[in-house]
Amino acid sequence: RERILEVNDLQVQFPTADGLVNAVNGLTYSLDMGRTLAIVGESGSGKSVSSMAVMGLHDPRRTRISGSIVLDGTELVGASQETIRQLRSSTAAMIFQDPQSSFHPFKKIGDQIAEAYLVHHKVSKKVAMTRTVEMLDRVGIPNPDRRAKQYPHEFSGGMRQRAMIALGLINDPRLLIADEPTTALDVTVQAQILDLLNDLQREFGSAIVLITHDLAVVAEVADDVMVMYGGRAVEHGTAHEVLANPRHPYTWGLLGSVPKLSASGGNLRTIRGLPPSLINLPSGCSFHPRCDFSDRVPGGLCSKELPGLEVRAGDTTRRSRCHLADPAGIFDAEIASTLE
Ligand code: SF4
Ligand code: MG
Repeated sequence: RERILEVNDLQVQFPTADGLVNAVNGLTYSLDMGRTLAIVGESGSGKSVSSMAVMGLHDPRRTRISGSIVLDGTELVGASQETIRQLRSSTAAMIFQDPQSSFHPFKKIGDQIAEAYLVHHKVSKKVAMTRTVEMLDRVGIPNPDRRAKQYPHEFSGGMRQRAMIALGLINDPRLLIADEPTTALDVTVQAQILDLLNDLQREFGSAIVLITHDLAVVAEVADDVMVMYGGRAVEHGTAHEVLANPRHPYTWGLLGSVPKLSASGGNLRTIRGLPPSLINLPSGCSFHPRCDFSDRVPGGLCSKELPGLEVRAGDTTRRSRCHLADPAGIFDAEIASTLE
């Protein structure tokens, strides 16, 4: 498979009056064409910030970035703004939680999408509009001809989200980054949008990074899952590995926080405490102040030493960042049943 994105030891910091915010602290992952990677974590985990960096959407004057981001063969860290802008608009697209912010309120939806198309295609306005209407149709907007002439406020939330996906896809991006694309939508529309992303990926073969805190969404669409905490990946594997046999205590907590789709309530595990300060990250494993299992690791190691992100005993591809010697055993004995 063809590699579209390679992130290596990425660090992202923001100097603030209160100190240096360490938003991303050595993130390494890669993504191939045709794959969907879900990046999961609470707010402040670095999932959005790292993806903004991949898109070159951070403010270069207020952000320190080091490490490497290779997008479609081109290194972005240290590249000129022009290179980044070019690559961003030709290769990658990002869709956000709030489609309102992606559309100008006083311009017709169709005109805005056609304009984006015209930036990269030397065609007439008429051709661009034809292509726009096709795309609106493709993302499941009824009466696309008529809809193209409407303003954003005339669209429902779900329709606006579809229109934003159309805007994101109009230039055939090889990489689509979707940041909480369905969070604001009701469950039925969420499912439709996720199906749509799946279909479009099959059709276009693009790679998708899906940023979400919602593991139900992940189960729907992701091939691979990367769980982030405190600006680091703590677990990264196939969706099956991570969702069916999670290795990291933080992932156990996240899975326990998923509202059961089957309802009936059940035993809801939540993660105690608050996300870590990114100005003063906890020593050792950043999760240790919230972890219920650190007393099972000898020598107080959890607060002393940062575990590496490694393939551990019993795994072949999934990597996890925890000192526990037998997380699979603990999961089977104590966690699995509470998640049912
Ligand atoms: Fe918990 Fe220690 Fe594993 Fe961190 S390394 S998740 S504190 S058991
Ligand atoms: Mg976010």
